Amino acid sequence: MFNPSRFPAKPGGFRESAYNEALLNRLVSNLFLWIVILLSLFANNCRMTPKTETQTPSTEQSASVDDANAIHRRAIAIDMHADTPQRLLDEQVDLAQRLPDGHFDSVRAREGGLSAQFFSIWVEPQLFGAGGATAIKRADEQIAAVRALAERHPETWQFATTAADIRRITADHKLAALTGLEGGYAIDEKLENVERYYKLGVRYMSPAWTESLSWAGSSGDEAGRTRGLNDFGRRVVREMNRLGMMVDVSHVSDKTFWELVNTSSKPVIATHSGCRAIANVPRNLTDEMIQALAKTGGVVNVIFYPEHLEPGWSDKKKKVDAEIADEVQRASAAEPGDVAHKKLARDRVRREEFARRLPPVMVSRLVDHIDHIVKLVGVDHVGIGSDFDGVQATLSDLKDISQLPNLTRELLRRGYSETDIDKILGGNMLRVMEATEE
Ligand SMILES: [Zn+2]
Repeated sequence: MFNPSRFPAKPGGFRESAYNEALLNRLVSNLFLWIVILLSLFANNCRMTPKTETQTPSTEQSASVDDANAIHRRAIAIDMHADTPQRLLDEQVDLAQRLPDGHFDSVRAREGGLSAQFFSIWVEPQLFGAGGATAIKRADEQIAAVRALAERHPETWQFATTAADIRRITADHKLAALTGLEGGYAIDEKLENVERYYKLGVRYMSPAWTESLSWAGSSGDEAGRTRGLNDFGRRVVREMNRLGMMVDVSHVSDKTFWELVNTSSKPVIATHSGCRAIANVPRNLTDEMIQALAKTGGVVNVIFYPEHLEPGWSDKKKKVDAEIADEVQRASAAEPGDVAHKKLARDRVRREEFARRLPPVMVSRLVDHIDHIVKLVGVDHVGIGSDFDGVQATLSDLKDISQLPNLTRELLRRGYSETDIDKILGGNMLRVMEATEE
């Protein structure tokens, strides 16, 4: 805006022509400044608006949605945890199709702009043993199912084990399939089995799921309250470090957490956890744990499950579980199939009743956890681990992998830059993978 007070008072006499010249010069330079400002605004606007000519955002909001989509598509998005392999085995689902249920398939992964999926190789100890031949068989079959997915659909999937694989497969416009062991039951208390699973392609392992092992405590049972790592447990961690298998603390007891962090010489990760400061459940990490994990160079990949995100939701869920216990048991008894199919029948009832009886939770709550971690230890130590196909409830606006861009939209709305969003969606995990591979 023109401001006359910035010009000197008009002097008289012979100075007048010099004065006019000075005034003209200032006007010209001001005009030049305004042209530069207008041009840069115009150029910036061109960069921010969508790539196709047909899209003409008329409001600020539609422009920011397009920004979010573009930023999301450019990023390498790595989900650290989905339980889909059990569906491959027990339901024989074809992931190449859009499935009518569950949270994950190739079509929805493409829609959600996913680049790489760590498939969880989960041995449920109550059904398949906390060790022994059945646990090993259950793990091996899931790994084989993930490999078969890539072999049957090479146009979409490639099996991957390294950060370089993920970058190459993404550049090739395909999806990278990776594997991690959820619970060390399948190593059957034998150190050599760690290398066996590494050779089969497994790139992370959490020592325990909800049942403690002799060598590692879980956050899910009584034994875990006092159990950490024993001597064999520490040897397992050192073997994982030697091979280049990431150490995952999701599900372990607090004591085991601290011993893992103190034993591992490589970055430690949580593949699917939240913050206890927001949702106070034993599966989540305290602020001190998050700080210690960040010090190792690791990443907390925030889970998408309402129970670990929303304060009080876990207690409400326990109440509903008690109310529907008979109905769940009836469904299980009526299912003629094997133990895995009986579990599917129980999960079906729980999923329907949770959706009906429990309060909805939105993606903004997930971003509260991301914000909390960022404020605590910085943006280099946070990532994502959905737990899709492993939970009976989801966020209302992140119901399956196709809705992953809603997360980027919320991050952008809260002021995260594209560089930050790249790190959160997958960049931080690529860094940890590279450090683990060294
Ligand atoms: Zn889990």
